[in-house]
Amino acid sequence: MEPRKSGIDEVGDVPWGTHICYINTSRDGKKDFLTIAASFLAEGLQHGEACVWIYSEKITSDFEVRKVLKRHLPNVDDFIACGQLKLISHLNWYLEDNIFNTSRLNKQWLDLLKSAIKSGYEGLRAVGDVTWLENNLFNIFADYEQQIDSIICDLPFLALCLYDNSNFDLFELADVINSHSLTIINEHGKLKLLRNIELLIKCKQLEKSRADYQNLLKLLPDGILIHDSTKIYYCNEAATRIIGVKEIRELADLYPRDLFDNENLNKYDEFIHQILQENISPCYLECQISDKNGVIKDIEVVASRYLYNGVPTVLSVVRDVSHLNKINKLEEDMRKNNELLQATLEYDKMKTEFFSNISHELRTPINVILSALQLMDKFKKSMPQDDRESKCLKVMRQNCYRLLRLVNNLIDITKIDSNDFELELRNCNIVEVVENITQSVANYIKSKGIRLQFDTNTEERIIACDPDQIERIILNLLSNAVKFTSPGGNIWVNVYDLAEKVVITVKDDGIGIPKDKQKYIFYRFQQVENLFNRHHEGSGIGLALVKSLVEKHGGTISVKSEVGQGSEFIIELPVETLSQSECDLKIVSSVTGHNFAERAYIELSDIYA
Ligand code: ADP
Repeated sequence: MEPRKSGIDEVGDVPWGTHICYINTSRDGKKDFLTIAASFLAEGLQHGEACVWIYSEKITSDFEVRKVLKRHLPNVDDFIACGQLKLISHLNWYLEDNIFNTSRLNKQWLDLLKSAIKSGYEGLRAVGDVTWLENNLFNIFADYEQQIDSIICDLPFLALCLYDNSNFDLFELADVINSHSLTIINEHGKLKLLRNIELLIKCKQLEKSRADYQNLLKLLPDGILIHDSTKIYYCNEAATRIIGVKEIRELADLYPRDLFDNENLNKYDEFIHQILQENISPCYLECQISDKNGVIKDIEVVASRYLYNGVPTVLSVVRDVSHLNKINKLEEDMRKNNELLQATLEYDKMKTEFFSNISHELRTPINVILSALQLMDKFKKSMPQDDRESKCLKVMRQNCYRLLRLVNNLIDITKIDSNDFELELRNCNIVEVVENITQSVANYIKSKGIRLQFDTNTEERIIACDPDQIERIILNLLSNAVKFTSPGGNIWVNVYDLAEKVVITVKDDGIGIPKDKQKYIFYRFQQVENLFNRHHEGSGIGLALVKSLVEKHGGTISVKSEVGQGSEFIIELPVETLSQSECDLKIVSSVTGHNFAERAYIELSDIYA
């Protein structure tokens, strides 16, 4: 705080809170005191302070006081008229019905200070003439002076008291000196200044602890504010960060209510009302502010009533909890997502189990129907055939195969999902395996008006594979190639031996697959035509199963395709063989067996008509 000019040469500059006493020991003392008091008040009046002179009717009067003051400030009446200066008789101030009441007096001083601050003055400067004090009141008055000294030491308040030493003994005078920071003694017109060492030490200690707490306030991560609903009187650095300003002085014109939107403003007003009007302390507030830069922040406030320069205000400790709230929300979201994930996994497991069970259940009746159909075929051979009957039988058989394929694929895909699918690896000549499969459906594909060509750069390449599954892979790809190629088109099946890998390609010049759909076709249940309309049979799990089977072999599958140009599916298989001990069967050179034709029927059932 800036030091104030005391207006008394012997005293010089003093800080707010200084309590001075003047002890008169001579006949001229009264005259000197009036002059000193007038100079003291004139200085305050000229520096924006509210001033009051409590004069003792015992030694002076309103008229005399004005006269002395006019010597320093000719326009003193103007100061009185505007309320900056008050001249009050001791009878109307210290005594009420001739009774001296300490707490009433303390309140009177604080009220005067409050109204001075409210009127915009920098503080209060007071002259208190206590020459009226009788010896019998001394003890109670000394207590009051001690209290006043500790009250004003932290306020924008300066006081100059006048004592007449003829009223007191030496001990009483020592008490008077002790309860003031400075004492001016007038002895035969000579002024002497005594500094109260005890109070000086206390002042030093106070200053140190003030510096300590100001440092603490600076370092505190929480915002500290002294404010009411219209003004911020004080804040630390953390508070400036929360409010979104760089420097404390930017807060001078800040209207705290501007930081709140309508909903939060109601909360804030209620909060201030509880503290200032209802005297509830401490009060808590959780709300949002929009800081000076428009950033929305979640804040938590704990506050209580605080007398600042004698004015009731709110002392708030504010914490920005935006990040905390965000983290809490993220944690809550994560917890919910985790629960959802667990539920989904659980559901997925149930679904897989259900698929597996239902697929097995579906396959049994289909097999029964198929067997019955085969028996009927046998009987029919020895009997005359009715065209319509055999057509119906054909349709029934083909649809049984389609159902069987679907069910087989579902069973295998669920087995692969639950890691329950094992390849039966054997060392096979992959070239022959693929060629034989291609040959076996060549006639059928030809009957569709589509040319099928097989080519290879080698006659033999032995690799460890499951020929039954390779057969499903190739038949699936061929079935798709036929499905999406019009009569007159071509299908090429090639096997390339590239030393470290074998590449099998199935290529057609059919309708092709749009670029943006290519990465989805290997996902199960995905069909390019889904979105538009369907012209082709299929369940959308063929390629997903093919991909899983290729990967089970340690290989990869990819597609190259242009709409209207055709598609090429490229399978790359690693060249690995089983050791002799792993080989339980000798090298199989071709896929044979009486079941093959039927398996081909099953795999191509979507396209057989
Ligand atoms: P689906 O059983 O429906 O044929 P797939 O998984 O075998 O299922 O194929 C998925 C989708 O990929 C097909 O519906 C089709 O849209 C597209 N597709 C697959 N092969 C070809 C191809 N050779 N030419 C054009 N589109 C194809």
